[in-house]
Amino acid sequence: MRAEIITIGDELLIGQVVDTNSAFTAKALNAIGVSVYQITSIQDDKTHILQAFSDAESRADIIIITGGLGPTKDDITKTTIAEYFQDTLVRDAAVLQNIEAIWKRHARQSLLQVNKDQALVPSKAKVLMNTSGTAPGMLLEKGDKTFIALPGVPFEMKQLIDTAVIPALKAKYTCPYILHKTLLTSGIGESTLAARIDVWEAALPDAIKLAYLPNLGSVRLRLSSKGYNAETVKATVEKQLEELLPLIEDVFIGFEDEITSLEALIATRLTEATQTLAIAESCTGGALAAQFTKNAGASAYFKGGVVTYATASKTKVLEVPEALINTHSVVSAPVVEAMAKQVRVVLDADYGVATTGNAGPLKGDSDEDLGTVYIAVASKDRVISEKFSLGSERKRVIERAVNKALQMLEKEILKK
Ligand code: ATP
Ligand code: MG
Repeated sequence: MRAEIITIGDELLIGQVVDTNSAFTAKALNAIGVSVYQITSIQDDKTHILQAFSDAESRADIIIITGGLGPTKDDITKTTIAEYFQDTLVRDAAVLQNIEAIWKRHARQSLLQVNKDQALVPSKAKVLMNTSGTAPGMLLEKGDKTFIALPGVPFEMKQLIDTAVIPALKAKYTCPYILHKTLLTSGIGESTLAARIDVWEAALPDAIKLAYLPNLGSVRLRLSSKGYNAETVKATVEKQLEELLPLIEDVFIGFEDEITSLEALIATRLTEATQTLAIAESCTGGALAAQFTKNAGASAYFKGGVVTYATASKTKVLEVPEALINTHSVVSAPVVEAMAKQVRVVLDADYGVATTGNAGPLKGDSDEDLGTVYIAVASKDRVISEKFSLGSERKRVIERAVNKALQMLEKEILKK
């Protein structure tokens, strides 16, 4: 079964609003075995909308449209749908009631004509009641094909997808079972990973698709398969996983549905082991600590962090000896190690992590090249550090440094 998504709105085409409706809809369709063939974003323009409808109809069975259902003049989706289906608009009593109820709830002034007109729907449409907003969803059929128009407001659109669209599609179409298994890896680049598993990949059956999804030092591998027998699909994917996992044992972090990120994995490991973490940052400026505090439950393992940005702060707060800084420079292995050790002791944590580097664009109090970052992880028994060259763009240097620090910490925790 094939679907297309059409999002309508000038705001999407000028980059003012990011089209999140398509991603949400595509995910929901995929989950019930409907493949999305194309996603199109177009302006609030009648000719353009009509063209997009007929193009989509020539390729897909299911066409989902969002946006342009509101009460204002620029919202022309509804009248355009009526034209496309050679239909007229009729007042729907239940929709009018819903609009009046919403109006009362918000205690606004008397209903304007434009709002009453939101109860107009094409006579051939089945109304998908939008209890959160005044623009109704609509479902129209043309033989085996289904057109569904939904309001553009993401919250309202999502609610209708879950409560009305998915149930209606499941009832009408027999959809295959689609299984995606996404594996998270860490500390290995895309091409190295590909080289390592190339024999396995080349032998993959046609029924399985493999995708590499790289994102800063972590690459996700997605295996996808579909078929009308769910058990067969699961077994096919399972068999491939059994062969793949031993090949990537050292870099495999977990499955995406079980853990979402490296920091979440670290959080789980530390919480389970009732161990704690303290962080001392220079060039990452708190970005590393924020990776942990952004998630609920951080207080179970995160003792705290300090941002000792100026060289003098490293001496004052973390007691990094001035002589050490003078001898090795502030961006160096001995300094980052001293920071990690001391923050662990001061905050009484099991692990101390520290960063120091030149994020650019100007060099600070050090002669190291731009993009040079030292990261250290201290535990009770030892301290390790590594030097990285992370490029020349400040934002990227910081992001990469955070990611490297997470990788080093995760490896160190695994050692225990
Ligand atoms: P309403 O009756 O609320 O006006 P509508 O169907 O007319 O509904 P639009 O006017 O097109 O919807 O959009 C309403 C809001 O929803 C916009 O301000 C925009 O922020 C958001 N929106 C619209 N389309 C999308 C989209 N594809 N992705 C994310 N947000 C969107
Ligand atoms: Mg609108």
